[in-house]
Amino acid sequence: MLYIVSTPIGNLEDISLRALRILGEVDFILCEDTRVTRKLLEHYKVRTKTISYHQHSDIKKQDYLLGLLEAGKDLALVSDAGTPGISDPGGKLVAAVIEKFGEATRIESVPGPSAVTAALSISGIATDRFVFLGFPPHKKGRQKFLQKIVDSIFPVVVYESKHRILKFLEELKKVNQDIVKYNKEIDEQKNKGIIKSKDLLKKINLITSVVVCRELSKMHETVYRGELVDIIDKIKNSHNDQKGEFVVVVGR
Ligand code: SAM
Repeated sequence: MLYIVSTPIGNLEDISLRALRILGEVDFILCEDTRVTRKLLEHYKVRTKTISYHQHSDIKKQDYLLGLLEAGKDLALVSDAGTPGISDPGGKLVAAVIEKFGEATRIESVPGPSAVTAALSISGIATDRFVFLGFPPHKKGRQKFLQKIVDSIFPVVVYESKHRILKFLEELKKVNQDIVKYNKEIDEQKNKGIIKSKDLLKKINLITSVVVCRELSKMHETVYRGELVDIIDKIKNSHNDQKGEFVVVVGR
């Protein structure tokens, strides 16, 4: 059996009883970073052996793990935080297991925290439906990424690091400024009679609400709501507010 086990996104208490039992019972725990997971295991006195398995693990390592499963060993896969496979490695092994064992595949999820659901749950934005886009690309594809947010009719969730959070929020601000300009041009053209059919060019909805969640479930958890410009000012003016991990929920 391969168990995909969710672990806390900050607060060590956020782990299920089932997750702890399974981590204690399996033959090996596959960790994105054994040093990170060790803290959790030590806290709960789980003595199971760990094996490192991360995005740079090669095919040899993968074959070794598939061999363990074939030999009847039980494995648990964890990432550094949250749910494996959500913007971190994990999916690759699951796909390899399905490919190798087909119908005989035995993979079980041990659900738990994820930053995406934690952020949505406190956002105050209607989240019956949402789009999760993960991390924005660093360079190439960034404009396309922003366009996907503009085009979405559902709230969009984005992960961002402390190094780029301000850059990303500034880009969202610019997107809104561009939308205002675009909509104004449409109005002007309509007024001048250049655009005859009102369906020809549609106005674009502004990004109305942004919720920035920092350090969820940790000591310095902070949620920034309100006008984008105010959120940017707040984060810009405080070095502490620029630390930690971020999730941005963009309302549409
Ligand atoms: N697998 C994880 C999950 O289920 O949420 C996500 C892993 S991804 C490599 C790490 C990113 O998740 C961070 O850069 C941040 O955007 C977000 N994140 C993780 N923990 C967080 C927390 N406690 N508060 C805010 N964001 C968090």
